[in-house]
Amino acid sequence: RHRLLDVRKLTKHYPITEGLLRREVARVRAVDDVTFHVDTGETLGLVGESGCGKTSTGRCLLRAIDPTSGEMVFDYGDGRVVDIAKLEGRALKDLRKDMQMVFQDPFSSLNPRWTLLDLVGEPLVAFRVAKGRELEDRVAELLRRVGLRPEYLRRYPHAFSGGERQRISIARALALNPRLVVADEPVSALDVSVRAQTLNLLEDLQQELGLTYIFISHDLSVVQHICDRVVVMYVGQVVEVADTSSLFFTPKHPYTEALLSAVPKPDPDLASSRIVLKGEVADPSNVPKGCAFHPRCPYAVDHCRQVEPKLETLGDGRQVRCHRAHELSLSGVE
Ligand code: SF4
Repeated sequence: RHRLLDVRKLTKHYPITEGLLRREVARVRAVDDVTFHVDTGETLGLVGESGCGKTSTGRCLLRAIDPTSGEMVFDYGDGRVVDIAKLEGRALKDLRKDMQMVFQDPFSSLNPRWTLLDLVGEPLVAFRVAKGRELEDRVAELLRRVGLRPEYLRRYPHAFSGGERQRISIARALALNPRLVVADEPVSALDVSVRAQTLNLLEDLQQELGLTYIFISHDLSVVQHICDRVVVMYVGQVVEVADTSSLFFTPKHPYTEALLSAVPKPDPDLASSRIVLKGEVADPSNVPKGCAFHPRCPYAVDHCRQVEPKLETLGDGRQVRCHRAHELSLSGVE
């Protein structure tokens, strides 16, 4: 294993402007000073409520949006090291070969007028990897790989169920042999009955192809099932990083504890584990002073309302952004 991706101080702010001269009146803090890494072959979870910055972080990684500042260092392990934040032109286009995204909604992300051959073969054509008969063979093999029949080549996506459409999206994402796949809520739009199958498929493909995943989710039972390590985000910031079992059994940040307490109970069917927390998520354009979580935190003291905590590394290597992380004993899941 080596460090495939090193994200350092990644920030994405959007100005909110007013009037003819577009005077800046506020800033939306979508991603704020986010630092984490991903090793080859692992699955790293990015979790939090909606609006916490997890999707914006994923989109910055693929340069679907441009970060305001920060580094995203991608190390191929063969001497080539690039900062994704600085890529331009051809090099930026080529990033698509190494990093791919799987989206939440397999209904809107597939062009209904394209056949499976078009959809899955498009990246191969765009990068001139294959054409004609070879293209068909490659696409048929990709379909087989995700558990679909190669005879489906000339069918359109409407002929398929949600779970099958997500398999088509996965086949398309894998066409160029990427190293890193960013999966943004890949099972949230699917029926409960096919979620586990889809997760198992992702795990099998990871084993077979040596893939690395960043798995964005608000569904903690899914995260517990599939992730090796987890980054918890709140209002654009990382508040805790830990391996999955430590995070679930002994959370160190009050926000993580709150997320876990909102999960009804571990559910083998991966159903009904949406995060529902007390209190409103902070407005990212008007983040509270001090610790952003203090208005919702049952352990907040005066210091928390005044001083913003830093992300600190504890003795066991876990990272936590909380003034009281050393003294609190929080409850996880049984
Ligand atoms: Fe709660 Fe204070 Fe820790 Fe923030 S710093 S999470 S308010 S205890």
